[in-house]
Amino acid sequence: DTQRETHKFQAEINQLLNLVINSLYSHKEIFLRELVSNASDALDKLRFRSVTEPELLEGASALEIHLIPDAEKGTLTIEDTGIGMTHDELVKNLGTIAHSGSREFLEMVSQRGQKDVNLIGQFGVGFYSSYLVADQVSVVSRAAGKDTQAWRWTSDAKGSFTVEPAERATRGTSIVLHLKEDQKEFLDEWRLRSLVTQYSDYVNHPIKLQVKKTTGEGDAKKTETQLEVVNKASALWQRSKSEITDEQYQEFYKHLTHDWEPPLAWTHFRTEGNQVFTGLLFLPKQPPFDLNSPQQRGVRLFVKRVLIMDRCEEMLPQWLRFVRGVVDSDDLPLNVSRELLQDSAVVQAIRKHVTKKTLDMLEKLAKDKPEDYRTFWQGFGPVLKEGLAVDTEHREKLGALLRYESSREEGLTSLADYVSRMKEGQKAIYYVFGESRKAVVDSPHLEALKKRGYEVLYMTDPVDEWASQGLREFQGKPLVSAMHADLKLEETEEEKREKEQRAKGLGPLADRMKEVLKEHVREVRVSDRLTDSPCCLVVPEGGSHAFVERLLRERGR
Ligand code: ADP
Ligand code: MG
Repeated sequence: DTQRETHKFQAEINQLLNLVINSLYSHKEIFLRELVSNASDALDKLRFRSVTEPELLEGASALEIHLIPDAEKGTLTIEDTGIGMTHDELVKNLGTIAHSGSREFLEMVSQRGQKDVNLIGQFGVGFYSSYLVADQVSVVSRAAGKDTQAWRWTSDAKGSFTVEPAERATRGTSIVLHLKEDQKEFLDEWRLRSLVTQYSDYVNHPIKLQVKKTTGEGDAKKTETQLEVVNKASALWQRSKSEITDEQYQEFYKHLTHDWEPPLAWTHFRTEGNQVFTGLLFLPKQPPFDLNSPQQRGVRLFVKRVLIMDRCEEMLPQWLRFVRGVVDSDDLPLNVSRELLQDSAVVQAIRKHVTKKTLDMLEKLAKDKPEDYRTFWQGFGPVLKEGLAVDTEHREKLGALLRYESSREEGLTSLADYVSRMKEGQKAIYYVFGESRKAVVDSPHLEALKKRGYEVLYMTDPVDEWASQGLREFQGKPLVSAMHADLKLEETEEEKREKEQRAKGLGPLADRMKEVLKEHVREVRVSDRLTDSPCCLVVPEGGSHAFVERLLRERGR
């Protein structure tokens, strides 16, 4: 056939396919979730675009996913009436341009072993999970719109794929999986039913399974096929809280994020009044591999149940970028654009509310489940701390959520607990910057504080120096760096006397040192803060910390 083209897979995709075929043995069933999720995305895209281009629906408005097992042929077909793909989209999306996540996925699997195949969808390479169960896959697709040609993409994943013209009466995509000999269980009606319930119940479109029904007796007996809806196909967040079980929330979260672990916490709310919207927000247990990439922000934005955007970053500040979930607004227009989102008063109001709800959720988690909160803090604390520096509005609430190591004992403390332990006469909350607990624990800067029995917070996260600038005080107590030259402590009578004597004796030595070190220091002072060490470096007013300077040096700035 002259019209058949052969294309080579991009190198990384080849590697990925080899891995999928040869090394991943567990959780093969997740292929169904991935393909159903792609079908659902395609339906969402069509619904969204048809708001402004109704002709795309071609008069056939049904948005559905069909699962068609065929025992004779040994195939399972996943079919949708979604946006479809053109010739070029088939070539590009399914083979020649590797998603940025493919390399990360390869790395993760080689580092952590096979058990995390479940995460494949998070890396944007879900389609290739087809080859967990199929040795040949063909995709027949027709893009929505009049007079478009249908195309068939076929591959046995051995380095290349072919594309040729095909027949297809309606828009959408069919994925035909030729199941491997030992994967025929995925033709079984009950197996498919239970997989949909487990993984895809919350897909917003009906998933219909083709089943065989036998009717009549004796000679009149006949078998026909029927399509049966097997998922709930309704927006979970629109139901009332009392009707939703914890398991349902957890499954919805997994469906939304492709995460394999349940979330640490969630909050579900509906606002009335000025802005009518529903929010369902989740706190993941572990940070995703690309927590700091700009595409990874935001929640799913719906307008009156229609999916508008997968990752709408305008709904949350940058320092809450780890929050996942759904916002469904009644007030935004269906054809809302990015530009409009950026300066919409409705969006501002939603964002404010969503931020508050998220902080409330964190506060509650910290109070009710300190263990889980610690897990959260380890994964996302550094991101949350960014909020201190950039967002004055929430400082007080954020202050209550902070956790630091301290000189008291191993483990984390909150500022509130620190304050409750403050000594009589102690005026401030003291802290020290450093690379690790080990690096600061014997710091000479702490001697005078330790002597008074004052606790010192260990700020050992690189972001602390910057973030803590936004934290001047907590519960009316100022935060003071133990490294600062002007650290003023209450003096005992005895100390005063000692100090005077020492200053007299050490004055000439200090002068001499200043002469010798004149290019390197601004000043040499007799200090009253050291008890065991002979000297220490301190930061003059307006200077930056030695630790920070080292950090900048290491990064070559
Ligand atoms: P992701 O879904 O994260 O983008 P996948 O590997 O699952 O990654 O899919 C790759 C791409 O192939 C999708 O982004 C989409 O453009 C296209 N695609 C896959 N399945 C379909 C489908 N049923 N209809 C339309 N496009 C699809
Ligand atoms: Mg996908």
